[in-house]
Amino acid sequence: MTIDVQAIADLGPDDRVAFFERDAGIEGVRETVRDIVDRVRTEGDVAVREFTSEFDGVEVGNLEITDDCERAYDEIDDGVRSAIETAATNVREFHEAQLPEDWRREFDTGRELGRRFRPLERVGVYVPGGSAAYPSSAIMGVVPAVVAGVDHVSVVTPPADELNPVTLAAIHAAGADAVYSVGGAQAVAGLAYGTESITSVQKIVGPGNKWVTAAKAEVRGDVEIDFLAGPSEVVVVADETADPDLVAAELLAQAEHDPNASVVAVTDDATTAEAVAAAVDERVGEREREDVIRAALENDASGVLHARSMSEAILFTEEYAPEHLSIIAADDESLLERIDSAGSVFLGPNTPVAAGDYASGTNHVLPTNGGARVSGGLSVETFLRSTTVQRLSGEGLADLGETITTLADAEGLEAHAESVRTRLEDDTGK
Ligand code: NAD
Repeated sequence: MTIDVQAIADLGPDDRVAFFERDAGIEGVRETVRDIVDRVRTEGDVAVREFTSEFDGVEVGNLEITDDCERAYDEIDDGVRSAIETAATNVREFHEAQLPEDWRREFDTGRELGRRFRPLERVGVYVPGGSAAYPSSAIMGVVPAVVAGVDHVSVVTPPADELNPVTLAAIHAAGADAVYSVGGAQAVAGLAYGTESITSVQKIVGPGNKWVTAAKAEVRGDVEIDFLAGPSEVVVVADETADPDLVAAELLAQAEHDPNASVVAVTDDATTAEAVAAAVDERVGEREREDVIRAALENDASGVLHARSMSEAILFTEEYAPEHLSIIAADDESLLERIDSAGSVFLGPNTPVAAGDYASGTNHVLPTNGGARVSGGLSVETFLRSTTVQRLSGEGLADLGETITTLADAEGLEAHAESVRTRLEDDTGK
């Protein structure tokens, strides 16, 4: 079998580590990346060009390629342009629905509190492009920033002798303000610290390979980042009503992303488990990216798991906290109710993960390595900061006065207490 079938009850400690302690795989490159980041910070464009020549094999002319994106958009095939526009529109609409409203409310007489949201001013989006083209990632990174109202959205994407016109067109359609032909750690460093050609940003988002991810870890603290994303993951929860071919199709699709991808089907039905493994076996040879898929299927963190009950399947899924969760089961909504930790959930047999990867409107930049236990994927909030606002009337302050001064005195912060007392003594009742 190309993919192992195992009972969850039989998983040993090593299996559990493989499934539940996945990581971004960046340890081996951190030293190299630290050097790249340091040199770009101190030497700017010269270092960017040198690393681009070394790692991409390209001598770049102008680093900025904003106009090339507009040209690519005008020149690409009408069908492709229309698909980009449909995807961008759906992603825009879904993210517009997330925009939070500013609000103010009087909680007690004279105690008015509120919250307001403002966009970041300058953000950078990494659009990967070393070994494959990812126009969809341009849409997923740029559109939410534009919807949030970010003033200046910069994009970096690796150079090539022939840049992929669909990626360039998607970057333009998504609404980027400036686009630079640079990839890898040098691109992340350029965005973090700025160079003669690249404007520095406040926050860097977007997926990439281990050098990109290690560079995000390195600059974190000097700039904000979204999160450190590792190889792609899917868990498919299936019951005996699920079509094994559809479950297998989900595993094969996710596996083609990366030889290190983790793909798991978990079912309470032994026949379904065997049928899914058999369908994977049968189909894998038909796929174009068979080599990548086979490598991913052989990972210790991939497999078809047989649970003794749906409760055991759900417990496994919660502990795994997948980037993508597909539920193909008769009572999918009630199973969903029992899931707290998943980046993006796909319900029912007609909802392939590929819908969210490209075009349904949800974001595909999602937390991996169990990150879904504590956070979600890219959203409008990624690009907003919030401020609290308050106004107390004389009556509102008088009502709170004793509470504040008692706590301030208890902390030994006498001037804090005094800032209240002086107002209460002067209070004219306004
Ligand atoms: P990439 O753009 O992430 O990386 C390419 C860059 O890596 C190059 O520009 C080069 O400068 C640098 N590089 C290559 N070899 C190097 C070396 N030996 N030393 C230093 N730097 C080096 O493109 P990629 O490599 O194709 O990887 C894309 C990644 O993004 C994949 O892992 C893919 O799965 C992931 N991805 C994730 C999502 C998502 O939403 N989670 C979406 C799309 C892509």
